[in-house]
Amino acid sequence: MLYRSLGKTGLKVSVIGFGAIKLPEITVDDAVKLLNKALDLGINFIDTARNYRDSETKIGIALKSRRDEFYIATKTHSRDADGAYKDIERSLKELQTDYIDLYQLHTVSSKEAYKKVMSSNGALQALKRARQKGLIGHIGITIHRDLDVMRWAIESGEFETIMLAYNPLDPEGVEREGILKLAKEYGMGIIIMKPLSGGQLVLPETEMGKQVGNDRLVRLCLRYIISKDFVSTVIPGMKRIAELEENVGVADMPPLTKEEKDELFRLIGSLGKSFRYGQICLRCGYCLPCPQGIPIPDVFRAYDAYIGYPEEVKEVGLKIYESLKVKPSACIECRQCVTKCPAGIDIPARLKEAYKVLEEALRRRKA
Ligand code: SF4
Ligand code: SF4
Repeated sequence: MLYRSLGKTGLKVSVIGFGAIKLPEITVDDAVKLLNKALDLGINFIDTARNYRDSETKIGIALKSRRDEFYIATKTHSRDADGAYKDIERSLKELQTDYIDLYQLHTVSSKEAYKKVMSSNGALQALKRARQKGLIGHIGITIHRDLDVMRWAIESGEFETIMLAYNPLDPEGVEREGILKLAKEYGMGIIIMKPLSGGQLVLPETEMGKQVGNDRLVRLCLRYIISKDFVSTVIPGMKRIAELEENVGVADMPPLTKEEKDELFRLIGSLGKSFRYGQICLRCGYCLPCPQGIPIPDVFRAYDAYIGYPEEVKEVGLKIYESLKVKPSACIECRQCVTKCPAGIDIPARLKEAYKVLEEALRRRKA
């Protein structure tokens, strides 16, 4: 197992952590076996949350006698101080411990939520109080989609870790938009969630069991993620010993070669489905260069963000679109990009669609 610093917390965490979101799907006996096996294999970072149903309880039962062998991270979804403090007390009880290494504010994914947790009576105050009392060691935050909130949280200096969704498709743009780089510059521990896009980057199981090729895809995805130096730990959700062993095995493998990276994107392309937030383009860049200079993946990034994101985040898509030096209307339909696309996208047709929708949105915004 490989261990990395969790930012400036002083904790050295296994690069493959244990995502405990799926523990409610298995029995207590199976959870006990799985969690003990995880520690035996070198995992020393377990991430759960107050609202992962009985996940904390199962961790408490399974690992009470091995508390000094791992770091525990959990989260509160409460936005106010009273609620958050009650959650901390509840977590301590369920986890059967007197100390939580990392407590995080959970899914602070809108400006409104961020303002609430940061207010004088907000949840952050409860976490600070608990830290002062020695009930928790460090404070973190988890955020989806809203890149502005991510920047604010990083620059506030209040959080020692940030948990973000990231995988080879970078569906929320956290690598492309410099969020991960910024967090690293601020010395934060970076925890990666949704390494398989919440299960979308694998083929569904059939009646015969796992699909051929899935293991390879999962391994390549995880290796792609841990090869990034900004990553402290990645926390795939696990519920079976076999997937635990497979995930842990990745930690000792070398970084991806160029051929393996190509294979990874082709495998993802072969899934033939749209991904989180309606993302169809894999952002692999194989369609480039376009003779007209159209930044094809960036056009689709803007379009996917605009059509797939909730209303309050659509502006992200429009801002990306406005920043493009060459707009999709420059396409001359030579179609040389189409044969290179592993996702099989009819690129000129989708560019036209993107142009129509985004230009219309800009017109509406000006009006
Ligand atoms: S079809 Fe359009 S987008 Fe594709 S290479 Fe030709 S000009 Fe560029
Ligand atoms: S359009 Fe196709 S080739 Fe181009 S970045 Fe997207 S998935 Fe890759």
